[in-house]
Amino acid sequence: MASVKLTNVKKIYGKNTLAVDNFNLDIADKEFIVFVGPSGCGKSTTLRMIAGLEDISGGTVEIDGVVVNDLQPRDRDIAMVFQNYALYPHLTVFENMAFSLRLKKVPQDEVYKRVTEAAEVLGITEYLTRKPRALSGGQRQRVAIGRAMVRDSKVFLMDEPLSNLDAKLRNQMRAEIILLRKKINTTFIYVTHDQTEAMTLGDRIVIMKDGLIQQVGTPTEVFDMPCNLFVAEFIGAPKMNTFNTKLVKEGDKYYVTPYGAKIEVTGEKATALAAKGVGSQNIILGVRPEHFVLAEAGAPDAISCQILVNEMMGSELHLHVVTENGDKLIVRIPTVSLTDDQRRSLVQGAPLHVTCEGKVMHFFNVEEQTNLLV
Ligand code: ADP
Repeated sequence: MASVKLTNVKKIYGKNTLAVDNFNLDIADKEFIVFVGPSGCGKSTTLRMIAGLEDISGGTVEIDGVVVNDLQPRDRDIAMVFQNYALYPHLTVFENMAFSLRLKKVPQDEVYKRVTEAAEVLGITEYLTRKPRALSGGQRQRVAIGRAMVRDSKVFLMDEPLSNLDAKLRNQMRAEIILLRKKINTTFIYVTHDQTEAMTLGDRIVIMKDGLIQQVGTPTEVFDMPCNLFVAEFIGAPKMNTFNTKLVKEGDKYYVTPYGAKIEVTGEKATALAAKGVGSQNIILGVRPEHFVLAEAGAPDAISCQILVNEMMGSELHLHVVTENGDKLIVRIPTVSLTDDQRRSLVQGAPLHVTCEGKVMHFFNVEEQTNLLV
């Protein structure tokens, strides 16, 4: 059992580098939480304050209801896996994994049991007698995870554990962490700058910028209802298209008018705008690349543009296009939805007419860049 609670946590380095401010978060027992954001936003600092590797400048960190601000890292009952796995090169995999247990004078048979069990879960039993240099990057990472696992900790902290691996291995290890999580069944706090990792691993994601939490939510919540433009552009790949346009209320209907087109807002978005009594105004409109669809030339809802680049990704095309006033957009079209003729016509320089799905648009306030519906 381990819940983790951060209340008004703050970190100031030196005299005035405010690295983390006003950090409030309740992490439930066995929850998998991911801190995500661009480099320098304060993710690692927050994790290190939970671990006890950094002093806390203000606020409290509680583990299972006990304030741990002044506890040494070893007394917090947490395990941490770092980006550079820092294995001891002269020790075997077994001894690397057993290291912390030996320090704690755990009896030999118990050490053997815990190490072999963890090795079994991680699929590294056959490497237990090897030295780290005889392992691949992915295997070393597994040993580093195993070393943390044997300690039976209440909370498992991981700081960019996959960032030193190549893309293919990273995908594989990501899937393994999802499986591992089911097996170890403890509370995880995971730091990454990679939104895909955050989306695929987290029960909830904490998106940070400049030391401040921007939004906390499930992957679906932050994808479907980003609270501001920063979150909207950070979550999702390729990133959301955003452009200045107008939201127009006519009777009980809402329209957006990008690039001379007139597109009706539909579904829950329309209902939500009406419920909030939102009036006509200038907005920043957000449209994910996959929420554009092809339109008929000359249709009232068609945005006219020209194809700059057509990237064939296999199951979909990524079309980089430019609008008549020079804005650049990215449009994702599933390959199966196109006829052979259509596919052949989507070449560099060709005209393209698209519209966007009215039920999945995002509307942001021009000044504060906050979501009008949050
Ligand atoms: P992230 O993990 O999101 O990349 P960090 O938590 O490492 O960000 O850093 C947050 C901010 O604190 C950055 O501006 C960084 O330069 C600063 N910082 C981190 N560690 C130190 C340190 N030991 N001394 C001074 N400033 C630091």
